[in-house]
Amino acid sequence: MTAHRTGIGNRLLAALPPEDLALLAPHFQKVSFEPDAILVRSGDELDPVYFPHSGAIAFMLEMPDGQTVATTLMGREGALASFSVLGPSHSSVTATARLAGTASLISAAKFRAAYARSAAIRHVVQVHARALLLQLQHVAACNALHRVDGRMARWLLQLHDRVPDDHLPVTQEALAQLLGVRRTTVTLTMSKLRAAGAVPSDRRGFVEIHRAQLERAACDCYGLMQRKIDQMYCQELSAPQPALAPFREGSVVAFDEAGPESRAASRERK
Ligand SMILES: [Zn+2]
Repeated sequence: MTAHRTGIGNRLLAALPPEDLALLAPHFQKVSFEPDAILVRSGDELDPVYFPHSGAIAFMLEMPDGQTVATTLMGREGALASFSVLGPSHSSVTATARLAGTASLISAAKFRAAYARSAAIRHVVQVHARALLLQLQHVAACNALHRVDGRMARWLLQLHDRVPDDHLPVTQEALAQLLGVRRTTVTLTMSKLRAAGAVPSDRRGFVEIHRAQLERAACDCYGLMQRKIDQMYCQELSAPQPALAPFREGSVVAFDEAGPESRAASRERK
């Protein structure tokens, strides 16, 4: 596999000291995923574990009547199926790629073995679990308390954090599934956001956004949630940067091409 200076994109892996990362890296397989790809179906065993380096994965809850709603969005800050460390278990949600990306995957058994041996791996999984729980709690509150235009703005901002520019490759159908509403509601809400200057255009599966206006249109959840999660990651996952340097130069988990730099990443550097 070709080594590349861009190194790893996944924040949990990037926070691991080299000796702990070495417990995982030989077992990684690099994969890419396209929008609408289903990585785990509801009821499937949580195996393998995915560490996304880029892109976004939505956790979708499917109702018996065919309706869907998203409970969380995960990007390079997370690990899909990381709860398999608790023992073999099945997914309660369907994980669908919302934005194309790449990930390193490892079998749940190999991941559990490394987790048992490494305090650093246990630590990053625990930080991630707390961030995921926090997001779930905010989304639950948001769904109960806030209007659909504020909620749609929140999902658009969460997607925007994971793409390199202001054009989000997301269809109205995908937004309807994330929000758990009809397509007509998305169309109506989109025209409200357009009138507010938050969405300059919405054509051919691309939503162009105006970040500052969209932040004004969003409910408070996005800001509250992101601040808490950013703070948690910055305080708790910042330690082993100098030791990471040799890994970045030539690693098993390597990129053939540079992944998109997210705004979340640029915020970290400030
Ligand atoms: Zn909200």
